[in-house]
This record gives sequence, structure tokens and C-alpha cells, in this order.
Amino acid sequence: MKHSLFVMSAPSGAGKTTLKDLVIKEFPDMVYSISATTRAPREGEVDGVHYFFKTREEFQSMIQHDELVEWNEVHGNFYGTPKSFVKQMLQEGKRVLFDLDVFGKINFDKVYPEAVGILILPPSLDVLEKRLRSRNTDSEEVITLRLNNARKEIAFAEEHGKYEHVIINDNLEEAANQLRNILSA
Ligand code: ADP
Ligand code: 5GP
Repeated sequence: MKHSLFVMSAPSGAGKTTLKDLVIKEFPDMVYSISATTRAPREGEVDGVHYFFKTREEFQSMIQHDELVEWNEVHGNFYGTPKSFVKQMLQEGKRVLFDLDVFGKINFDKVYPEAVGILILPPSLDVLEKRLRSRNTDSEEVITLRLNNARKEIAFAEEHGKYEHVIINDNLEEAANQLRNILSA
């Protein structure tokens, strides 16, 4: 039987969104899990498509009403996986691809230990910094925060994370092929 749940984690800027957007449309039985977040939308991001954008009060209420599979504060904003979305997708027989930070993944595993973990890494921290700058979406302060967090996230994932697959996103096509192979299995 094919696996139903896949979790991608990566330091910000490693190319997770680019890879996911390239590959997921090739799998009609697969959906991308839409997280709730208190982060402000980036240009082009649509509520209910990229994220469910929430105020801090709305997010706190979701926590209090036990509506999230897991949640975490990442780079100063809250992010969480709504239970209702996951349940509905599984009921419809869909396979689901999640994007979770490395700490949130540990909590996710407590609920769904069968989930397949995919860690996406940049070829180096220098390359990661260039990618964060070239994306042009974050202020200097946010880039510095994300780079500092990247070091901690990579160390944590390597020591404590449950990742069956590691993809080094150097050449985009090669990395996309690796992701295709994992999702096909
Ligand atoms: P993430 O979702 O992990 O934060 P993005 O997918 O937004 O990262 O990628 C960060 C930036 O790096 C984007 O500008 C993207 O176009 C670029 N990028 C992604 N993968 C590669 C790659 N293999 N080679 C060069 N640039 C890349
Ligand atoms: P971004 O702001 O770049 O979209 O995402 C920042 C970080 O939040 C990424 O590391 C991403 O994996 C993480 N993230 C996105 N959604 C969730 C979620 O639902 N739960 C957790 N724990 N992390 C998430």
C-alpha cells in the first residue's frame, strides 16, 4: 500500500516550496496540507490556499479548542496543522504532504507515527543565505533570524528528527526527481 502522509521539513530558504510546487501537481491523489499561521501573507499568497491566515487571538482560540494536530512558534509567528483538514483529506482517500518545522514534526509524529519524513537541506549555509536574499520576501532582520534558526534546526533534525529521506537541494531538477521517487513509493 502507498504511504498516505509525508512531512517535509527544511530550514527556511532551502527550497521546500519550490520543490513542492514543481512536483505535487503530478500526483492527482495528493494534496498539500494548509496550515494556520499568524504570519502576514507574502505577496501573492492567498488565504485558504497557501495558509489560513489568523490573528494571534484566533490562533490561541484554535489551541484552546484542541483544533490543531500540532503547533509551534517559528521565527516569531505561530504555525499549526488543523485537525479538521487532515481528517477530511484522509476520509476522501487523499494522500497528504505537510510542511512542518523540525520541532513541530516531533509532535506530529506522536499523532501520526507512520508519516514519512523528508528533510530538505541546502548545499551550504552560504547558499541558503543567497537564496533567502534572492527570494526578496524578507527584511534583513528576518533573514538574520532565519539563518540563525537554520543552524539550530539542522542540528536538531540530525540529532532527534525522524526523517527517512534527506534531499540536498543543489540542482533543482535532481532534487525534484528525488522527491518524485519518494512520493511514488
Ligand atoms: P522555502 O520554501 O524552503 O523557504 P523557497 O522554495 O521559497 O524556500 O526557495 C527560496 C529561494 O531559493 C527562492 O527564490 C527559490 O526560487 C530559490 N531556489 C529554490 N531551489 C533552488 C535551487 N535548487 N537552486 C537555486 N535556487 C533555488
Ligand atoms: P514560511 O513563513 O517560510 O512560510 O514558513 C516558516 C516555517 O514554518 C517553515 O519552516 C515551515 O516548515 C513552518 N511551518 C509551516 N506550517 C507549519 C505547521 O503547520 N506547523 C509547524 N510546526 N510548522 C509549520
